[in-house]
Amino acid sequence: RVLGETAADGVTGDDADGGVVEGKGKRKPREAGMGRMFGLARPEAATLGGGLLAMLVSTASTMALPSYVGQMFGVIAQQSEGQHGALREATLTLAVIFAVGGLCAGIRGYLFTVAGERIVARLRIALFERLVVQDIAFFDANQTGELMNRLASDTAMLQNAVTVNMSMGLRFGAQVLIGLCLIFFTSWRLSLVMLAIVPLVVAVAVRYGKFMKRKSRAYQKALSEASVVAQEVFSSIRTVRSFAMESRERDLYSRAVADSYALGRDKACAYGGFGALIQISGQSAVLVVLWYGGTLVLGGRMLLSELTTFLLLTITITASLAALSDFFGSIMNALGASIRVFKLLDGRPSIRTSGGTALPSIDGLIELRAVSFAYPARADVRVLREVDMTITPGSVVALCGPSGAGKSTVVGMIQRWYDPTSGSIHVDGTPLSQLDPSWWRRQMALVAQEPVLFACSILDNVAYGVAGADAADAATRAAVEQACATANAIDFVRAFPDGLDTGVGERGVQLSGGQKQRIAIARALLVEPKVLLLDEATSALDAESERLVQQAIDRLMLERTTLVIAHRLSTVVGADSICVFSGGTIAERGTHAELVKLGGIYYSLVQRQLTAAGPAA
Ligand code: ATP
Repeated sequence: RVLGETAADGVTGDDADGGVVEGKGKRKPREAGMGRMFGLARPEAATLGGGLLAMLVSTASTMALPSYVGQMFGVIAQQSEGQHGALREATLTLAVIFAVGGLCAGIRGYLFTVAGERIVARLRIALFERLVVQDIAFFDANQTGELMNRLASDTAMLQNAVTVNMSMGLRFGAQVLIGLCLIFFTSWRLSLVMLAIVPLVVAVAVRYGKFMKRKSRAYQKALSEASVVAQEVFSSIRTVRSFAMESRERDLYSRAVADSYALGRDKACAYGGFGALIQISGQSAVLVVLWYGGTLVLGGRMLLSELTTFLLLTITITASLAALSDFFGSIMNALGASIRVFKLLDGRPSIRTSGGTALPSIDGLIELRAVSFAYPARADVRVLREVDMTITPGSVVALCGPSGAGKSTVVGMIQRWYDPTSGSIHVDGTPLSQLDPSWWRRQMALVAQEPVLFACSILDNVAYGVAGADAADAATRAAVEQACATANAIDFVRAFPDGLDTGVGERGVQLSGGQKQRIAIARALLVEPKVLLLDEATSALDAESERLVQQAIDRLMLERTTLVIAHRLSTVVGADSICVFSGGTIAERGTHAELVKLGGIYYSLVQRQLTAAGPAA
């Protein structure tokens, strides 16, 4: 990794000193705040340190201007021919100071910006790393548009805050501090008079900061609500188009944008008001300096050159303060966004994607022991009730039953997308909760009801599940071709001008439903899984293709434990055992012949299918 040991370095709340406070035996993430936000910059300490050094030199050169100009005015004010040498010397010195200052300003700009880029890249990767391992239940509850928005927009706000803004903040802060020291050194009396306005500015600044932080958080939230609408519309554009709902969606989106606009307007109001206060305060300070300083000069208690220096310093200080007010606003904005980012970073999945036992070999015995389950998103509805089921190694178990009975839920439980609410699942006698989930998932292949492909080539899609497969490698290509042939996909793949290299579009939109299914079957074939999970995998095929794919699946199922969800009679007839689900329990189980003889739910399902198929046949 170019960005460090792990992308989460200094980012997540659980690094050694980056954010976790040790509670009594329990680790609690550190609260999101200014300290934690600036903690993101810790891995870039060296770069930022270099930038800081360059900034100090360039600031010093800026701060040297008033005193040198003051001196030069002193020399000029003497209006004497003998002062030419002194004037030349002061000019040359100032030229050198400016050259060094300019160079350092460039170095400062580069170092702070590049550090910012690294910080935000690291933050985005860490956030992505955290999100991608979250529980499936997390994705049931959080919408894609919202998560995308946090990855893109919230992190971008932090990028500016902890780097460019911080560099500006430090630069102008240093200018203010040095300026203050210098004016006190020049005339403490005039300084005290000038600074009388400070308490008011500070009091307003505190309120302004709190306001900006609160509004910014709400603003980012409103923005992500708008992103949710946009993401949903774009990913379902065919449905939107076929119902001619473009104008309704536009209204929904404009309402969401109007919310963020209203918050943005409030922020703009506060920003403008605070900016005006800072400018008026600064100009008042200049006026006070001219008036009171002028009085001191007229009274002979101050030199004109001192007043000139003082005035220029005051202008530098007030200009820096104005810049600082911008910095302050954006820091508070970023703080609002950071709360949302840290909340995601602190999220811990209850089912880790890795860690646990990896069995040295696997027979493929799967047992569900009194498994009950309710989806976290709907915790009060029990979807599975005390389900007992044994799938012996190498056997084919078919799940059927009415829609919504819980068949796909069983597949999800076996994949360990969710843990049972009660009861347990065992693989070769070992509880699933003790197995390494990554290892276990690699033993399986799932061909889902609606196969989802990635927006890459057919070759990449088929090779997706094979760890370390190199699509450029001839052996991989040959294996993919073979898998496509077995899955009866090779004819249509070859018919595309680019063959295996044909792109399939987002989620496979450029393929037909049946083509997608066959690619998904080829993908499963290539993994050579021990356990095969088929969720009505042949539903979108025509009769001839279904026959060929069924053959392929039959070959694939040999010596593998297979769980197949099927509504179609043809798929279930040959299964070793059929479990008929109804209302979250297994109402009937047995072979096709046994269940037909029983004359129960299965029998009526079979009857209905035969009646439906009758007239067409
Ligand atoms: P079908 O044959 O129509 O695919 P199924 O038997 O596979 O149906 P499941 O998908 O297991 O049914 O769904 C069982 C129940 O769980 C349904 O009532 C469904 O509404 C609910 N359900 C499914 N997925 C979720 C989810 N992610 N969050 C909350 N409830 C869910």
